[in-house]
Amino acid sequence: MLAAALFFAACSQETAPYLTICIDPGHPSEVGRGTRGQKVTEIHIAWEVATRLKKILLSQNIKVVLTKKSEDEMVRNQRRAEIANGCHADLMVRLHCDASQGSGFTTYFPDRQGTVNGFTGPDPGLIKSIAPIAKRFHDTLTGELKGFLNDNGNLSDVKTAVGSQHGALVGSIYSRVPVVLIEMCVLTNPNDEEKVSSAQGLDHLASAIAVACVKSLSKSH
Ligand SMILES: [Zn+2]
Repeated sequence: MLAAALFFAACSQETAPYLTICIDPGHPSEVGRGTRGQKVTEIHIAWEVATRLKKILLSQNIKVVLTKKSEDEMVRNQRRAEIANGCHADLMVRLHCDASQGSGFTTYFPDRQGTVNGFTGPDPGLIKSIAPIAKRFHDTLTGELKGFLNDNGNLSDVKTAVGSQHGALVGSIYSRVPVVLIEMCVLTNPNDEEKVSSAQGLDHLASAIAVACVKSLSKSH
């Protein structure tokens, strides 16, 4: 964080962005429209956090690329990875909400190659570089969300339904840039839904993720 913060402090408005973050608000995709709570959908929460996160990162001289132009745009997961690759993102952060009996947030990252439609990825060198980024991302998020949302850990893609089929998430398999995915809360849990659907809750999530994005990359810049 320090290196990034000092670098940012030295930057004026005119300087080129020092990082590029690709924000990927989950769904609709070939997997479907995701989950929903009693009042709000995963698509809506992910979009709301994404637009807030974009604003925060832009204010910190960070270039931001979104994988969707509008909340309901359907984008396949391979295409989402290609958008992050195309802008040479320093990090692709994928925003989702979970459906389970539990509560709180979980982060996922590819720790091995997967194969889908005959294509194998990500590159072993990239897998190696993602692990420390994912760990810093998760650890920062845990600190930033303490007292707001429970931490369920930093897990391999294979712990997800799609990842268990392919070895990694499809968005990870096609990725040529570091990628992490957050299940930001359990939307089927009424307490979690209540927390994240207020403007304050969305702001809290977005600012926590912004800090995690910058800190996760601080050692490599
Ligand atoms: Zn999802």
